Order: sequence, then C-alpha cells, then structure tokens
Amino acid sequence: MRIGTIGVQGDVSEHVDAVARAMREAGRPGEAIPVRRREDLDRIDALTIPGGESTTISKLLEKLGLFEEIVRRVRHEGMPVMGTCAGCILLSKDAGEQAMRTRTKLLGLMDMAVDRNAFGRQRESFEAVLEVEGLDAPFTGVFIRAPAILRTWGDCRPLARHGDRIVLARQGTLIGSAFHPELSGDLRIHRMFLDAV
Ligand code: GLN
Repeated sequence: MRIGTIGVQGDVSEHVDAVARAMREAGRPGEAIPVRRREDLDRIDALTIPGGESTTISKLLEKLGLFEEIVRRVRHEGMPVMGTCAGCILLSKDAGEQAMRTRTKLLGLMDMAVDRNAFGRQRESFEAVLEVEGLDAPFTGVFIRAPAILRTWGDCRPLARHGDRIVLARQGTLIGSAFHPELSGDLRIHRMFLDAV
C-alpha cells in the first residue's frame, strides 16, 4: 500500500511522517510519499491533503496538472482521501464568500459546506478535547486558523463537534477534518483512514 500526501504547500512532512507511523503501528506494510507530480499520483492507493493555505494549494494543484486527476481518481476509482484543515476546505462543495472572492477552486468531493476561517479571528490556534464517533476515548484536536464544517448532506456524516460546529466528517472513504490529526501524536484518526483504504 502506498499513501501519498499532496506536497506542494503546508505541513507536508508532518503528514508523511504521521501516515508512515500509522502504517507501522497498524502492521500494514507500505510507504508514505509526497505527491508533487502526476507520476506520483499514479503510484498511490490513497491520498492525504495537508493543512496550509487552501487558495495556494488549489492553484498549485491546477498548475501541476493534479487537480482534475484527483477528482477523477476519487469519482471513478473510489480513491480514499483524508483532508485536514486547508485539505478539508478543498474537499468541500461550498467554502463561502471568501473562497469565491479568492477564486479558490474546490475539489468538491464531499457533501459539506465549510466556513473557511471559522475559528480564525477569535483564536488563531487552540486545542480542544473532542468526542469522536467510532473512537472509544476522547481525541485532542489541534486547531490552527481552522475552518468549521457548517453542514453536511447526502452520505456525508458528522463524526465530531466542537461546541455547535462540526469539525470532523466522513463520506465513505473520504474524511474531512477541521483540525490536524497529524499534529497531536495520536494516530487513531489516521487508523480510521487506513481502515478505509
Ligand atoms: N484557514 C486556512 C485556509 O483558508 C487553512 C488553515 C490551515 O490549514 N491550518 O486555507
């Protein structure tokens, strides 16, 4: 099994490390690689999209010819994807006025609407203890200028909330997280993702 992480901007090495550790812990042989070119994308079975700046990541995905191919692999081959923070914004179908103003093209793969900087202005970053559906003990989420998931529809299901906001959602083999599971040292959400691959 080979899992790629979009490696054009953002917390790429943290993602690659977390995926590699999660595979080791789960006893799943495989490799975690950064994805920067079309050839990288062709070699992977599943993908993670890191945090960073969603407008920048989106533009680079287009420029490098990765954008449409990611959409195609998910729609036609059911490639599993986990997007965290900026990656979660890109997986959504609607990221509000700010995404329109910056002409941020979304992958639009998950039936959810997000508010791009929902937690940004009040508190740039914080940690919160979350109850996550499917996990037997609470998970500490690291939020950095984090989006919130405003609503989900169709087959997309909320898995965790912080206050009245959804912060983790799943649609089949797609997972969107407003926080950064690659930064808390707790790999249970990665494990959930590996189980979907
Ligand atoms: N809010 C940022 C954006 O709009 C994402 C922040 C992050 O990924 N840590 O892209």
